[in-house]
Amino acid sequence: MNDCGCEKALAELEHYLHNELCKEDYDQILEHMNGCGDCEGEARVGVTLTQAVQRACKETAPEELRVNILAIINEVRS
Ligand SMILES: [Zn+2]
Repeated sequence: MNDCGCEKALAELEHYLHNELCKEDYDQILEHMNGCGDCEGEARVGVTLTQAVQRACKETAPEELRVNILAIINEVRS
């Protein structure tokens, strides 16, 4: 067991989502996500948002983008 705890997992979440962590930190956070529904949920929101932003940036005007992202947040969090 190599659990880093919620505090570190959430602090590093953004780096985790952008693949900016070293392997050791990445593995620790992944391990934590596997056992922690809260952090896993946060990660899922983050992944969904990252993908939505990347997709929307190519296709959508800024105002639409903002509305779309708010809708996605509400959907994922509900
Ligand atoms: Zn956690």
